[in-house]
Amino acid sequence: MAKKQSRAKRKLRVAFKKNRERRARQTDLTRELRGQPDALDDRAADERVSGKGALTRYRTVRGETGAGGELVRDVDESKCLAGRVIAAAGLTSLVETGDGRRFECTVRGVVRELTRDARNAVVTGDRVLFQPAAGSGGVIERVNPRYGVIARQQHGREHILVSNVDQVLIVASLADPPLKPGLIDRLLISAEKGGVRAIVCLNKCDLVDPAAVQPLAGALARLGYDVVLTSAADGRGLVRLRCLLAGHETVIAGQSGVGKSSLLNALEPKLNLQTDVVSGWTRKGRHTTRRAVLYRLGFGGWIADTPGVRQFELWDVQRDEVEGYFREFRPFVPLCKFADCLHLHEEGCGVQRAASLGLISPRRYESFVRIVTGEPA
Ligand code: GDP
Ligand code: ZN
Repeated sequence: MAKKQSRAKRKLRVAFKKNRERRARQTDLTRELRGQPDALDDRAADERVSGKGALTRYRTVRGETGAGGELVRDVDESKCLAGRVIAAAGLTSLVETGDGRRFECTVRGVVRELTRDARNAVVTGDRVLFQPAAGSGGVIERVNPRYGVIARQQHGREHILVSNVDQVLIVASLADPPLKPGLIDRLLISAEKGGVRAIVCLNKCDLVDPAAVQPLAGALARLGYDVVLTSAADGRGLVRLRCLLAGHETVIAGQSGVGKSSLLNALEPKLNLQTDVVSGWTRKGRHTTRRAVLYRLGFGGWIADTPGVRQFELWDVQRDEVEGYFREFRPFVPLCKFADCLHLHEEGCGVQRAASLGLISPRRYESFVRIVTGEPA
């Protein structure tokens, strides 16, 4: 569908996809649509027969242009409630309102038609307007413009895991499992790429001598990242961590076993309960393990826990992009003799020279080399 760029009110003709009308075989879509009369009614509206002989359905959608050029659809706000999608499962979403009520919502057909990829029509983290229905159901009428989207590329398509986050909490353990600074570097790249603030949490500090951690913590702090040493076991660092999370929308990332669940439970004892309720709900349908879930923090803010993101890189990064995400390399890249320098073995390389002079940490340089040569962390 073509999108016109303008800031004022505008209209958009949306063609309903033909494959929605007749499907050769049963799919999840048709199955999930059954029992959702609203979604079906929507389709039947505004039909016309096109000159090409095929039946095409159009509808005019009015609204305003959002920051990303998308259409923010006009809806009757007096009939709607505002909420946050705390979990999305296929065509249904669990939406939480400001006062903590939860509604199981379907999505108005036209909302799906406005998205390029129906899979991303409504995702965890979205701020939505929905029309409440009897009981605790509802229909999502509008998805507000997103920022801070965490996505991954899959088979050349973007799959949005969670939207509207402003920081990533990278959790690593100082021991058991042993510390892997290279993994922290990779997650930092992901945060840089997503344009979100990164906080590095070095957990299990009760198991090591904190003095031994200072060189790494200091080096990361000098790069401008917030670093916090914590112990979920004895409570050290939790006050500072709580301050860093309060009022923010944070996605938590890190290897399995580093203590993410323990930290969250130590920060917010009620979270345990929330986890059970929401994970029970998200077990419906397919791809349950890839689903993100959003939890409200009692001291303000939200935490997104995405199993699909927890254990590896958040975003896919091209090899030639990597240097740009090592922020301390930037002053030295223009000094390379060759414009297409890979900073590996080239002569006259500004980055290698800086590393050999200690202007760039040799550990970080080594980490860079492992990433661009495709070695594991
Ligand atoms: P997750 O996979 O990242 O969620 O890790 P868990 O929270 O499940 O923790 C893995 C193991 O590490 C559990 O046995 C925890 O009890 C333990 N653990 C977590 N945090 C700490 C800590 O700060 N210190 C110590 N000594 N153990 C911890
Ligand atoms: Zn170079």
